[in-house]
Amino acid sequence: LTNFPYDRVLVLGLAKSGSAAAKLLLETGRKVRVNDKQAVEDGLLDELQSRGAELITGSHPLSVLDDMEVIIKNPGIPYDNPVLVEAARRDIPILTEIELAGMLVDNTIIGITGSNGKTTTTTLATEMLNQGNQAAKIAGNIGTVATEVAQTLGENEKLVLELSSFQLMGVQTFKPNIAVLLNIFEAHLDYHKTFDNYRQAKCNIFASQTSDDYLVYNADDPIVEASAAIAASMKVPFSALGRVENGAWADETSIYFCDEKIADKKDIVLVGKHNLENILAAVCAAKLSGAANEAIRYVLQTFTGVKHRLQHVATVRDRMFYNDSKATNILATQKALSAFTNPVILLAGGLDRGNEFDDLRPYLENVKGIVLFGETKEKLKRIALEADIPFIRTTDRLDEAVKLAFDHSEQEDVILLSPACASWDQYRTFEERGDMFEQAVHRLM
Ligand code: ADP
Repeated sequence: LTNFPYDRVLVLGLAKSGSAAAKLLLETGRKVRVNDKQAVEDGLLDELQSRGAELITGSHPLSVLDDMEVIIKNPGIPYDNPVLVEAARRDIPILTEIELAGMLVDNTIIGITGSNGKTTTTTLATEMLNQGNQAAKIAGNIGTVATEVAQTLGENEKLVLELSSFQLMGVQTFKPNIAVLLNIFEAHLDYHKTFDNYRQAKCNIFASQTSDDYLVYNADDPIVEASAAIAASMKVPFSALGRVENGAWADETSIYFCDEKIADKKDIVLVGKHNLENILAAVCAAKLSGAANEAIRYVLQTFTGVKHRLQHVATVRDRMFYNDSKATNILATQKALSAFTNPVILLAGGLDRGNEFDDLRPYLENVKGIVLFGETKEKLKRIALEADIPFIRTTDRLDEAVKLAFDHSEQEDVILLSPACASWDQYRTFEERGDMFEQAVHRLM
C-alpha cells in the first residue's frame, strides 16, 4: 500500500469489507481505529485487538474522529451520519475499501457499474475471460471483498469488480483499466439525495482514468452518453439498437464487435433486451482484454443467467421454466414479460407494499395463464380478470403453483416466476423463493 498516504485510519462499519480493510491496514503498519454501532462478534473483536486495532463499538461518538487522517467507511453508511458530517467539516477524506483494492495490485482491473445489470454483466465478463484463457477473479458488490480477492490474484490474473454507487462515491484515485457504465436510472435517492449526486458517484468509475484506459458505455442511454463525453479515457460504446463505431452492437440477427461478427442471436441463451445490453457490455470488456471470439461465443451459448434473474432453470417436456425471483417490483416483471414471444404462464405475488398493479396490464398480452400467491394475490387477480386471462388460479404454495401451471401448459410455453413483489410475506429472501421454485420444477422431471 505504498500509494496510501495516511497513517492513522478510522474504519467505520465492520461488515466484511470493513474487517478486510482493517486487517490489511494493520498488516501494513497503519494505526487503525474501528468503530461500529453494533456489538462485534467476539472472534473478530479478539482478532482485531490482537493485531493492534483500537475498537469502539455500540455507538458512533464524534470523538472517534480525533487524531484520524482518513476514514474507510462501509458503503452502506449514509453520508448524513453525524460522524461523516463532522468528518467533512474537519476535512477528513472519506473513502471506501475499493480505493485500497485498487492500490494493492498492478493487475488489470475491470470495473462494472450501472443502476441495473451489474451482476449479470460482471458474471458474463468473468466467464468470457476465464473461458478465453484470460484468468480472472470476480469481487466487489457481488459478495466477495475486493481487497481480499486482490491479494489472491496470480501475476496475469484480472480482477473483475462489480461496483455500486455506494462504493464508488467513496473513491478518489481508484481507476479501473476498463470501466463499464451500463445505465443510470433514478435510484437510491434516500442515500444520494439528488439524482446528480447519484450520477456523479457512478461517474467516479472513470473520473481518474487517463487516455491509456478504456471506458465502455451504453450509447443507447442518453444520460450515460452525455456523462461519458467528459471522460479522458478511450471510449468504447455499445448499442442494442444498431451499428456503432469502435464498439459492440447488434442487428436483427447477430451481435458484433467493431466489424467482426461475434455470435448469432438465435444461439444466445439469455433472453430480454436488457440482457442484450449486458451481453454487449461484457463482449466489449472481454474483447478489450484479449478473449477469443470462440470463448465469448461459448459463454453466450451456455450461460443460462445469474441465479434468480430471468434464469432458465429447466425445460421439462418442452415447457421452458424461468426463475426471476429477483423481480421484486413491477418494472422488473414488465421487463421479464417483454422478453418472451411464446405464450407465458406467469407465477406472481408476494409482500403487499400498498401499491396497485395496473402498470402490469399492458404486458399481459402473451400471458395465457396466471397463478397467484402471497399477500397481493387478490390485487393481482383483479388485473388478470381485467386483462381477460383465461386461466387464473390462486394458491398459498409455490410448489402447487408450479404444478397448476405445468398441468395447464402446452409444448413451447414459458412458465415464469416473476413475482413483481418482495418475498418477505412468505420467505426469508427472494433467493429462498427462487430455490423453492427450482426444487418444484425439478420434481416435475
Ligand atoms: P444489479 O446487479 O445491477 O442489481 P442484475 O444483473 O442482478 O443487476 O439484474 C437485476 C435486475 O435488473 C434484472 O432481473 C432485470 O430486471 C434488471 N436488469 C438487468 N440488466 C438490466 C439492464 N441492462 N437494463 C435495465 N434493467 C436491467
